[in-house]
Amino acid sequence: MKKNDKFSIYYFLTIFFLILFLDSLFFPGRNGSQVLTYDRFIQKVDSGQVSRVLIEPQKIIGELKSSEKDTTHNIETNAPSAPWRIKLKEIEDQIARQFTVTRLPEVKDDELLKRLLKNDVKIVGKYQDNALRNFFLNWVLPIIFFIALWGFFYKKLGEGNPMLSIGKNKAKIIAEKPENPVKFDDVAGIDEAVEEVKELVDFLKNPKKYTRLGGKLPKGVLLVGPPGTGKTLLAKAVAGEADVPFFSLSGSDFVEMFVGVGAARVRDLFSEAKKNAPCIIFIDEIDAIGKSRANTAVYGGYDERENTLNQLLVEMDGFDASIGVIIMGATNRPEVLDPALLRPGRFDRQVLVDKPDLKGREAIFRVHTRKLKLGDDVDLKRLAAQTPGFAGAEIANVCNEAAILAVRKNHDKVMMSDFEEAIERVIAGLEKKNKIINEKERKIVAYHESGHAIVGYFTDGADEVQKVSIVPRGIGALGYTLQMPLEDRYLMSKEELLGKIKGLLGGRAAEELIFGEISTGASNDLEKVSQLVKNMIVVYGMSEKFPNISLVNQSSPGFLGNPQGIERRSEYFEQIIDQEMAEIINSCYKDAKQLLSDKKELLEKMAKILLKKEVIERKEIEEILGKK
Ligand code: ADP
Ligand code: ZN
Repeated sequence: MKKNDKFSIYYFLTIFFLILFLDSLFFPGRNGSQVLTYDRFIQKVDSGQVSRVLIEPQKIIGELKSSEKDTTHNIETNAPSAPWRIKLKEIEDQIARQFTVTRLPEVKDDELLKRLLKNDVKIVGKYQDNALRNFFLNWVLPIIFFIALWGFFYKKLGEGNPMLSIGKNKAKIIAEKPENPVKFDDVAGIDEAVEEVKELVDFLKNPKKYTRLGGKLPKGVLLVGPPGTGKTLLAKAVAGEADVPFFSLSGSDFVEMFVGVGAARVRDLFSEAKKNAPCIIFIDEIDAIGKSRANTAVYGGYDERENTLNQLLVEMDGFDASIGVIIMGATNRPEVLDPALLRPGRFDRQVLVDKPDLKGREAIFRVHTRKLKLGDDVDLKRLAAQTPGFAGAEIANVCNEAAILAVRKNHDKVMMSDFEEAIERVIAGLEKKNKIINEKERKIVAYHESGHAIVGYFTDGADEVQKVSIVPRGIGALGYTLQMPLEDRYLMSKEELLGKIKGLLGGRAAEELIFGEISTGASNDLEKVSQLVKNMIVVYGMSEKFPNISLVNQSSPGFLGNPQGIERRSEYFEQIIDQEMAEIINSCYKDAKQLLSDKKELLEKMAKILLKKEVIERKEIEEILGKK
């Protein structure tokens, strides 16, 4: 992009100076000449000082007789001058004698003519001949302009379009293989994700080994998580550990270009990667190309993205995984991805890269302070506690900022106070983006989550409580449930469904019980509850008022959770459905609240621990809550 800008500026500057130059070449005497008022001009004519004039429609250009020029300056004649110097002198002289006068329309030409003739002034021409100038302006200039424009676009188009191979390889896809590759040691706080990608390393090192035993090789791995949690870092670490090249492109690189270029780039990328196998292809922001085709109603860009996406699908299907190319995609919005991308043989494996918890943050602090000289008072545990909601990138930022502050303050080591100030700065920056929750909100979240956990724990059929966490999540949980296999739900009893609903309502119930008010934090839960209850009635036929009637229209696509697939009969029916939904939800909510007020002590206990530790694992949950 930069190069092209320069290119065009270069062209337009050239044209600009060309005009200036030609203009003064063809029409000399305009620059540097003095401007006379009309009366002074007449005066000079009458006193015979004017030697000749050129009369133009708007003005008169004239020249004084040479004797009339101020002669006091012409005394440097002692040295013999070179001929070109004399010539130059003459030209300078001539310019100095020139003048222009604005013509007055009231003054008749013949009147002026008479006066000029009387005073023996040579009249060069009555009207200026504009032919040459017009020719230049109307023909030469536009041609130059279009050539420049053409050159500009040609270069730009040529960037990725194989049809115009001139200047093509400027944006060539080049693999990264740094001298100090990223290793798993550099990735902290996302241990589960690291664990999941570890086998890829083995595979890249020895792809043949896997295929020989008939194993199926992974082709695409989708890293899902909020920005800055280390998705790129993790992909690089896989490449670094396996010692293979790393090709990386961002999804937005594909789509912002000309039609057809995105698809061509995908082709280039894959052919380049195949040549360099084993290797990793990393596509950041894959949602930019992989957005669901069903959801894109916007015209323009649509076709282009679809082309690109199709090309990507074709390429992913079209190569044999045993050559050892792994495609890693990253996104923070998995829910918008086109389902075609997630099918077997494509990005069929998903790895969650979530924000780190307390321990994770401490580990990330450790990684990023490895190269810093730390003061004795620096306590990484405390730093981790002071940075709830921070992702790896923000922690890296804090460490960097702290080091800069320390230098600025002439500390010879980075002190705790430097870190604390750095944290404040980063938080100030983040608060604008609404990412960090304040203390009160944290408390509400802690009780809310404890509510879910306790109701879930003591209610039969509710989801098993694996882990309670108040680490702010960047990913809407909803996007995940939708991708769960549907079979699971068909096997649920009514009892279990009700238990699940109670568990979901436990969050809001706890808020109401403790704070006497409810917050918006439960909206996600409520959405799921409504969906479940509706499905109970219209999909699973669990209604009490008209049991065993399914309203699903199987011929419609996406029947689960999609109202389009649900056949509604009459308004009467709909009223009953709504009414029954409300009844079920109400009674579940009452149960959840009752249970929580019976176990209020446990709720308090758990919330306090949660506030301190942010994450409670299953084993601890059992310790806190006791036997069921
Ligand atoms: P993402 O791709 O998820 O947006 P990046 O991988 O680009 O995030 O992270 C940006 C930087 O933040 C990394 O280069 C690294 O310095 C730091 N970082 C992020 N996550 C981690 C982590 N889990 N461990 C160590 N450093 C991290
Ligand atoms: Zn909740």
